[in-house]
Amino acid sequence: MEFGSASAIAAEYGRLDEMVGHGTWNQPAGTITDDTEQALCIARSLVERQGFDPADVAERFVAWYDSDPFDIGRMTMRSLSRLKHGDAWDEAGQQVWEDSLEGQNAGNGSVMRCAPLAVPYATDWERLTEVSRQSSQITHADPRCTYGCAVLNLTIAGLLDDADEPLREALDDVETNAPDELIGALRPLARGETPDTLETSGYVVHSLQTALHDGLVAESAEEAIVTAVNRGGDTDTIGAIAGAVAGARFGAAQLPERWLTAIDETGEIDALTERLVEVA
Ligand SMILES: [Mg+2]
Repeated sequence: MEFGSASAIAAEYGRLDEMVGHGTWNQPAGTITDDTEQALCIARSLVERQGFDPADVAERFVAWYDSDPFDIGRMTMRSLSRLKHGDAWDEAGQQVWEDSLEGQNAGNGSVMRCAPLAVPYATDWERLTEVSRQSSQITHADPRCTYGCAVLNLTIAGLLDDADEPLREALDDVETNAPDELIGALRPLARGETPDTLETSGYVVHSLQTALHDGLVAESAEEAIVTAVNRGGDTDTIGAIAGAVAGARFGAAQLPERWLTAIDETGEIDALTERLVEVA
């Protein structure tokens, strides 16, 4: 459904809640996209290195880039190309960011993949903030992106700990350092308010606002993801972020079996998750 409009999705499917194939990228039903591919790079690295090793994560991103993925974001492509040609993990994304204009410099490409970090670092918020920001910097160095990853992962950590107000606690934790634009967009959600409009663009502040709304408000994991995807726009990414939040809220057992069986990587993700808990 990526890049489709809400009205086009509704016209074709009503409320879409099944895996369907051969959409935007002409892939079979249940095919994972760039979000999950990179989340898997992070998760595999965490397990194999027994902790966060940004150079190793960067190397895995480059190997995925070399596999010629059908979908890859602009800043990610530029950063991974630089990494491939010798930049260090903390140089490539920084350089691409400095060379980008406002409006094209803060995409959602790092927030969509960062959730695996929240499992091993759930109880160490200082370290979780640091590793979340560094994982972003590999391709997305803008503070809205780096702190966007931190806010998402602190929220997930709070949910895993059954916090009453996970988003408020996450925002309180990073507020002094994080950009006002990010905090200002998310504060109303933490107070239980719904913004007048929820955007579905690839701008990190919009994607995070919409996905956190859907992930935190829905009454089931399925509802969170279905709502996010049916909004159209950057569906795989907003669905991925909303799904990470909803997964932490409701637990993996609440994910619909009919979706899990459609995804080839389900078994590997299950196994990695067990091992991520052990890394902690
Ligand atoms: Mg996307």
